[in-house]
Amino acid sequence: MASGDEKRRLTILGSTGSIGTNTLDVIERLGGRKKFEIAALTGNGNIPLLAEQARRLGAELAVTADEERYGELKDALSGSGIAVAAGRSGLIEAAERDAGWVMAAIVGNAGLAPTLAAARRGAAIALANKECLVSAGSLFLEAVRKGGARLLPVDSEHNAIFQVLESEQRHAVERIILTASGGPFRTKSLEEMRHVTADIARAHPNWSMGLKISIDSASMFNKALEMIEARHLFGFRPDQIEVIVHPQSVIHSMVGYSDGSVLAQLGCPDMRTAIGYALSYPKRSALPVERLDFAKLARLDFEAPDESRFPALRLARRAMEAGGVQGAVLNGAKETALEAFIKARIGFLAMAEIVEKVMDALADLPAAATMDDVFAADEKARQIAAGLIA
Ligand code: NDP
Repeated sequence: MASGDEKRRLTILGSTGSIGTNTLDVIERLGGRKKFEIAALTGNGNIPLLAEQARRLGAELAVTADEERYGELKDALSGSGIAVAAGRSGLIEAAERDAGWVMAAIVGNAGLAPTLAAARRGAAIALANKECLVSAGSLFLEAVRKGGARLLPVDSEHNAIFQVLESEQRHAVERIILTASGGPFRTKSLEEMRHVTADIARAHPNWSMGLKISIDSASMFNKALEMIEARHLFGFRPDQIEVIVHPQSVIHSMVGYSDGSVLAQLGCPDMRTAIGYALSYPKRSALPVERLDFAKLARLDFEAPDESRFPALRLARRAMEAGGVQGAVLNGAKETALEAFIKARIGFLAMAEIVEKVMDALADLPAAATMDDVFAADEKARQIAAGLIA
């Protein structure tokens, strides 16, 4: 907060989702309407929740990404004085409002354009949406730099690295070690994984998250996206980014230095720690999250990831090494395959097979010169993936 009674202005893109609702919880615990002004909230299909949130926090603007739901949102907010908008232009309008801090928590590539709009006007962006960096990488970072924006990582692994990366000692960093829970299929054979349904795959052992990221955790595509995200966010080489399976999800990630020291950030698996850190940065706030009880925990386990059962990790490495638009290709194909898996049109293992085939088909796409090239690569990947699914 700039001074005594001045309220901070915030916007939450994706307020009705898992990260969005946790963000509102943190905001309310840190003072709610007394301390914060909500410039805009956005959602997609959950109109009742969006309207309830907007009324509760006194938002100035509420936006549904779904143009067909505009009337429903307008009715739900009638008499409140809260402005209503819909569709892509509504999301951009929300992101462009003069809020100093923006939570980017729309799921998937749909979050790219609005987050970019917030970056271009120089907001502090609490970045949960990893797809911005996976798909648009250096172009997204360039927009952040040119706009004078700041990225505050919310993904728990990247938030952990952000907390333990000593900015004066970047030259001494040898490796970034991303921890992975291994998901619900950590010990399952390929044959067992072949027949799982979306309902089984969404049951994450440690974290409570949205549907898509939960299934991505089961296939380890979430870790694949996080590897690419870490590469762009922290600027290290692909071979400096390691993954270790750590089933308890207590160590959220680590940085290894040239003197042999490894710095880690630990905590109970609760996204409100990372969200609160990004909201309060550079200070720390008191948050009502569970505290670690080391005696109860007793042990921390680690194992190497098995890339033969989880090929997503190998595909991430391939996308990082190839550079260019291969992150956008991987993500576009993955999102299409994931939708098909959720609708039971393809099996669990087919997701990685489809992504690999799309990456093969688009291996020669030139690097993106503009954001339009990124969107075009994403679209091509989706079309090819859809063809393979059909
Ligand atoms: P959810 O699915 O729970 O929520 C997604 C949000 O995006 C909702 O507000 C949803 O609206 C909205 N939305 C859905 N489709 C669209 C669309 N086409 N256009 C605009 N808005 C849309 O996702 P999560 O909160 O789990 O994840 C959000 C992002 O944060 C993802 O990128 C994820 O990878 C990342 N993340 C999430 C973590 C977690 O713990 N959940 C941890 C780390 C990163 P509605 O619900 O109204 O339909």
